[in-house]
Parts: sequence; structure tokens; C-alpha cells
Amino acid sequence: MQLPHVTSFIGGLSIARGDDPMPVIGPAAGEPVAMLHQADAGEVGLAVASARDAWQNWRNVSVAARQTMLRRLADMIEANLDILAELETRTMGLPIRQTRMMADRAAGIYRFFAEFAGQHPEEMYRQERGYTTLVAREPVGVVGLISPWNAPLLLSSMKIAGALAFGNTCVLKPSEQTPLSLQRLMELITASDIPPGVVNMVNGTGPVTGKALIEHAGIDVISFTGGTATGRTVMAAAAQRLRPVATELGGKSANIVFADADFERALDGTLFAAFANNGEACLAGSRILIQRSIADRFLAAFIDRTKAIRVGDPMNPATEMGPVISAAHKARILAYLDQAQHSGCKVLTGGGDAGQAKGFYLDPIAVLAPSNRLPVCQDEIFGPFVTVTLFDTEDEAFAIANDSPFGLASYLWTGNLGTAMRGMRAIRAGTTWVNTPLLRDLRAGFGGFGDSGVGRESGRGSLQMFTQEKATIIGDGTGFIPRMGVSA
Ligand code: NDP
Repeated sequence: MQLPHVTSFIGGLSIARGDDPMPVIGPAAGEPVAMLHQADAGEVGLAVASARDAWQNWRNVSVAARQTMLRRLADMIEANLDILAELETRTMGLPIRQTRMMADRAAGIYRFFAEFAGQHPEEMYRQERGYTTLVAREPVGVVGLISPWNAPLLLSSMKIAGALAFGNTCVLKPSEQTPLSLQRLMELITASDIPPGVVNMVNGTGPVTGKALIEHAGIDVISFTGGTATGRTVMAAAAQRLRPVATELGGKSANIVFADADFERALDGTLFAAFANNGEACLAGSRILIQRSIADRFLAAFIDRTKAIRVGDPMNPATEMGPVISAAHKARILAYLDQAQHSGCKVLTGGGDAGQAKGFYLDPIAVLAPSNRLPVCQDEIFGPFVTVTLFDTEDEAFAIANDSPFGLASYLWTGNLGTAMRGMRAIRAGTTWVNTPLLRDLRAGFGGFGDSGVGRESGRGSLQMFTQEKATIIGDGTGFIPRMGVSA
């Protein structure tokens, strides 16, 4: 079978200057599903130039016209949900029912930003008589967008929609492991009313294509989602050119179950927070803390349900967990399991290959850790792997939650409003979910404390990231102006 070729999209055209494409491996069978032409620095330069050219007009397109274009793109995504979901599943291994939901949410993101762009106010001040100060928010220009492999369409759409809504043009560099849904998105954008060059995409590895993008002098702002180590590299490169950068990075979120929680809802929610998205989620509640008085009962139920998760072919609508992204990632997860066993953890369940001869499957893993200081509790493993630790008191639970370099999210399961409110204040994380997992409102900033990154993605967060303030002070002709050079 002829494999699809993934190219750059520059100025509305598919461009591939490199003639030595690399395979994109599908995790379900461990076999190539596409060939990807890597963009070198020259090709990245073409994409940036195309975005800069397009910006001259795009910055002046009315808000109403931009809104119409974003809404039409949302319609087109909805009309293509099946194919977008299938392409996403083929490259990243997430079950088809989850990728379908994500494609639907991606459409919702374009609609949200169309609305938001029409509603944000600008400012006027009249503190001094005779003077009016106007503060406008101007688009920054050409933005560089870098996204990871674990939710390519959704995470890239959050960046593209935010950039376009406020009058910017962009160059996107997705992960080279999951380019297919975004290639389809570029085709939809080309067929939409959004002018050529407003959205460009370059493909390739981080050290080649990503590096060329973050170091390019024509990029005005960088918005990056990915791992913490890469985030540091991106920020250092941006600092050389004094360009702003927003980073959405890793997490190791505490998922705290108090004895007074609604048992069944806490069980459902804890499992979902831990293992949705194959456990490959920045906001995964992968550090489960259980109050000792309910530990035996809760753990027994948690282990039974974890064992019952349907792991298998991600194209099967009944599947709940697909393969992890790559052989290397599976080996990394298993190395953590090995380390857990050698550092005094008890393996509660998981680690097998889900009975699959091919592909990168894993039975979801849970280990009981004697201390939160162990690397398995401190490092982001980013897969179907949870640690469980026990606590006695509320203060102890919050202290363990905060004993982490990350601060992206946290989950509290409790029937006590006071506990929830004290947790909300005590835990250093960008988002806390109380008695519910993972629901997000795009008006609420999403981002992290500490090693989880800098900046927030949301309506207002994206406005701040993708626009800059411009003040204009106007005198009405009555204000005093000192007269220099006039004899006293
Ligand atoms: P990486 O940091 O490895 O990669 C992220 C992106 O950066 C990819 O497109 C990658 O390219 C690119 N990249 C890698 N090196 C460089 C470089 N030197 N210069 C420029 N770009 C580079 O993360 P993963 O793709 O493995 O994604 C998983 C990580 O993302 C996890 O840590 C997860 O927590 C985080 N994440 C954070 C979210 C948040 O909102 N906070 C949401 C989702 C994920 P390539 O892969 O093609 O080499």
C-alpha cells in the first residue's frame, strides 16, 4: 500500500524540499503509516516569510470577517470528524472514541475564539483633564507554535485559533510522530476562506525543524507545549532574541482521595484522571494519594477496575486504552516499573503487553510506593502508570501533593467543603478539580506552577500571549505644555 507523504504547508501549498522522507510509525502495529519530509532551516525560513507576507493583510482583516472564517473552519472540522479521528488514532494510538471527542472539541475551540475575539474590550482612561489615554491590543505578528504528540489536533488548535483570532499569522511545528491529523487540518484550512500563508506548517524533528523555528529571527512569540526539558531549551533560545515565550509543560498531578469522598464517583474519577488518553496526558492524575482508613477497600476496587480496562486495537470503538506512542516510550515506562520494584514499591497490577503480539501495548500499571520522594513519584512517566501512596491527615495529603517539581493540576475527592476549600488554597497547581476530573472551561487559564511552565492558555491567556498593548495619549488642546526656548 502506498503510504501518505507528509509535507510542509507554506502559503497554502504542499512543499517538500527534502527528498529523504522518514517513516512515521503507527503504534498499533509498530509499522510505518506515513512518510514524513523533514523541513530544514531553509524551508522553515520560507514558512516564516510566508506568514510575514500574509500578516500585512491579515492584521487588518476585520474582527467580524475573522470570526466568520473561524466559524466556517469549525464547521469543516465537524464535517470531517471521522477522518480526523481516524488519522489521529492511526499515529498516536488513542482509541477512536476518544479521538472523535477530541476532534469535536477542536472544532469547539475555533468557535470559542471566534466568540472571544468579538468580546474582549480595549481600554480608555481619563484621569487627567484634557487628556484621553487609549490602550489598544495589537497582534504581535508571526507566532511560532510547537505542539507535542499526545493530543495533536486539540493542542495545536488551541494555539492556531488563539493566534488567528487576535490578528496573527503562524507557523506550526507538530511532533513528527503524529503529523497526519494536522496535515488534514491544513488541507481544510486551504479549502476554507482563511487566506494562504495565514497558517503554515513545517514538519520534522525537534532538534532540526523545531530548533530552526525557535531560533528564527522572524518569529515574534513562541507558544510551546511539550516536555519540561525541551521547554527550557525553547525559553533559552527565545531569551537570546528577547522574544516572549509561553510554555505548557509536564505534570505529575496529585489525585487525592479522602475517606469522606463519594466512593463510587471517586473511583470512577480517579481511574479516568489517571488513564484517559492512554495515561499520556500532561494533566493525568498519576500520583494517587489515598487516606489510610479507606485504603484497603479503595485499592481493591481500583485494582479490579484497572485490570478490567479494555486495552487493544484503538480503531475498535469498544477499546478504552490503545498502545503507547512508540517502542522507546514503552521501554521507558517499563524501565520505571523495574526501578519501582527495585526501590521498594509493590506492583499492584500491570506491565504486561495486553496479549498483543505486535504494537506498543501495555496493561495499565499501578504501584504502591512507600515514599513520595522516589523517582517514580517525582518524574513524569507520561503513560498508563500510577503510583499510590497513603496518608493519614489532610495536611499530610497537601504536603505530599506539593512535594513535586511540577504544579500543573490536582484532584480532590471529598465530601467536606472545608477540605476542598483548604486544598484549593494549599495546593500549588494551575488547576484543581474537586469531585470531577478533566473538565475544562476555555475561559479559565490553563497552565502550571514550577516546572509545569510559564503562562496560561485560555481566552484571556491567549489574548495576553498573542497581542501586545499599545497606549495612545491624546490631548484636547487645553493641557499645559512647558514652552522651552522662549525667553523668560
Ligand atoms: P517534547 O518536549 O519531546 O516535544 C514537544 C515538541 O517540541 C515536539 O514537537 C518536538 O518535536 C519539539 N521539540 C523537541 N526538541 C526541540 C528543540 N530542541 N527545539 C524545538 N522544538 C523541539 O514532548 P513530547 O512531544 O514528548 O510531549 C510530551 C510532553 O508534553 C509531556 O511532558 C507532557 O506533559 C507535555 N504536555 C504538556 C501539556 C500542557 O498543556 N502542559 C499538554 C500536553 C503535553 P519532535 O517530537 O517532533 O521531535
